[in-house]
Amino acid sequence: MFIGHYGLAFMIKKKFREIPLWFVFLTVQLTDIVAFILVFLGLERAVYRQSANPFFRNDLDLPYSHSLIGSILLAGILYAILILAKQKSWALIGALGVLSHWLIDFIVHTPDLSLFFGYMKTGLGLWNYPTLSFGIEIILVCAGWLILGYRNGASFLLLFLLLGSFSGMFFGREPEAIKNSQVIRTAIVLIPTLLFIGLAYVSERNERKKRRGERI
Ligand SMILES: [Zn+2]
Repeated sequence: MFIGHYGLAFMIKKKFREIPLWFVFLTVQLTDIVAFILVFLGLERAVYRQSANPFFRNDLDLPYSHSLIGSILLAGILYAILILAKQKSWALIGALGVLSHWLIDFIVHTPDLSLFFGYMKTGLGLWNYPTLSFGIEIILVCAGWLILGYRNGASFLLLFLLLGSFSGMFFGREPEAIKNSQVIRTAIVLIPTLLFIGLAYVSERNERKKRRGERI
């Protein structure tokens, strides 16, 4: 899934108010960030594939970052680090955020996710229905954004960029430069991810300032 992970992040944040939004954003996308690093190191693969279905333009081989065992390990490592840092509530949400990525990907991916480091490939294949998949992701993000209820410049920009980048991917064509480079292919996922995390931080800070101002 692409932006749908953030929809869930908005909802998690609404439920656990003491956990920062930027942190929830980071955890739901940590799996993709790790995938970027592994592709960059040549340990995983994401190459262009010609397809009329925009969700199938990536030929993926992500045996470590996107295997069930890999995401359990990643969640465990994050959990352990945060427990050592005496952030117990962050630790639990962080681990759940990491695991949520694999579970949501499991619903949409065709069988290119594995259970165990490249073995036992699985995926329910919602991407076989691109219009439905597109609609579900848009609804997830809009619902999460509305439920969380931040209304400031940064949060509107965040919503606009989430919907805009995803729609661009869905309706647009891939530039040649992106097609031919694995690193660029993953960088166009990583750079927006970092931008969204930054905007999540600013939108929460602005919201807090706004609410403090209203109370005075
Ligand atoms: Zn992913």
